[in-house]
Amino acid sequence: MEHVDVVIVGGGPMGTAAARALSAKGRAVILLERFTLGHARGSTAGTTRNFRLTYHDPLYVRMARRSLERWRELEDDAGVELLRVVGGLDVGVATEASARALEHAGERLERPSDAEVAERWPMLRFPPRSSFVYQPDGAVLRSQEAVRILARLARALGADVREETAAESIAASGDGVEVVAASSTIRATVAIVAAGAWSSSLLERAGIPLTVEPTLEQATYFDADATDLPTVIDWDEAPEQPPYIVPDPFEPGTIKAGAHLSGPVVDPDTRSFDADEARELRVADWVGRRLVSGARSLRTETCLYTRTPDEDFVLDRVGPLVVASPCSGHGFKFTPLIGEVLADLVTGEAPEFPLERFRADRPALRA
Ligand SMILES: Cc1cc2nc3c(=O)[nH]c(=O)nc-3n(C[C@H](O)[C@H](O)[C@H](O)COP(=O)(O)OP(=O)(O)OC[C@H]3O[C@@H](n4cnc5c(N)ncnc54)[C@H](O)[C@@H]3O)c2cc1C
Repeated sequence: MEHVDVVIVGGGPMGTAAARALSAKGRAVILLERFTLGHARGSTAGTTRNFRLTYHDPLYVRMARRSLERWRELEDDAGVELLRVVGGLDVGVATEASARALEHAGERLERPSDAEVAERWPMLRFPPRSSFVYQPDGAVLRSQEAVRILARLARALGADVREETAAESIAASGDGVEVVAASSTIRATVAIVAAGAWSSSLLERAGIPLTVEPTLEQATYFDADATDLPTVIDWDEAPEQPPYIVPDPFEPGTIKAGAHLSGPVVDPDTRSFDADEARELRVADWVGRRLVSGARSLRTETCLYTRTPDEDFVLDRVGPLVVASPCSGHGFKFTPLIGEVLADLVTGEAPEFPLERFRADRPALRA
């Protein structure tokens, strides 16, 4: 039997960020990742993610602001650029709420008119009399690269990061927890379960019900002139499943587009990796209507959301287990901040923002 302070199950962004934060606090950490770091079978497929302060709720705006500071610190630590500011443009009546939330949190925003949008971004077109919010700190993150870097920094601080090693079971035991992996048992004071779409099945076996659903989402890459293009979300097109564009400033000439929360519920072990053609065509049609110069579809990749019914994250401690399910399709931007929050849940220190809303036993999560 091995003994360690903390076992982390899952080497995605959240697990690796927690490993770095805990190792920096001097805790002995073993991180188990069933595949390889930066793989594409979970929630972190693809090279980029949208970073935005624009949320309908001031709490998320403040969390995003803190995260932006943490991303900059992480870049300094690693000596690698991970976040490039391109600005973020939101379209639709739903922008009223996000404008209020940004103002409430004291953030910069602009409300450009149709004519101003047309003049500033001549490559974009929208229906007449659309509403807009432009937030200049909107950015694009290098997602899979960030996971590899977080793991590298965690290892440099002493974390034992084990790839291709699946946690087979987790169980509270005495005043700690036992995790079985590669047929041997690791005993720890606390285990963090940051296993993405696999979290609920692991936790269920540990006696903790978690109402999260893996859904099969997809994003299509297009060959398009993306110079000076901001990220775009079009709430008027489909308020519940808004389509979005994420330009890739690290690979100029390519944009990514998809529709938020538009995929079916799946089992992460038996899911398909094939694109859904009907959704691919819907997104291509929307991109064709929004980009003046048109765009050629290059490829589509699939990726899993782990969705809660209220789309809020789960960040909580239940006995010796810390539950980390920060997805619902919008968690990546908070990665370094969430790593610190998970470390706080382990050590008992006060986190930087209130966690009440993210409890595992909140009413919205009761089946
Ligand atoms: C198409 C798509 C677009 C998105 N766009 C954005 C965006 O623009 N902005 C944004 O902020 N967020 C976005 N997200 C959400 C964001 O990517 C997720 O919130 C984030 O990747 C979740 O990270 P995670 O560490 O929780 O999960 P994962 O990355 O899935 O990591 C969990 C890890 O646990 C491992 N694991 C599972 N079971 C075990 C086990 N038994 N033993 C060991 N390891 C195990 C898995 O292999 C995996 O590596 C998007 C998500 C998708 C799918």
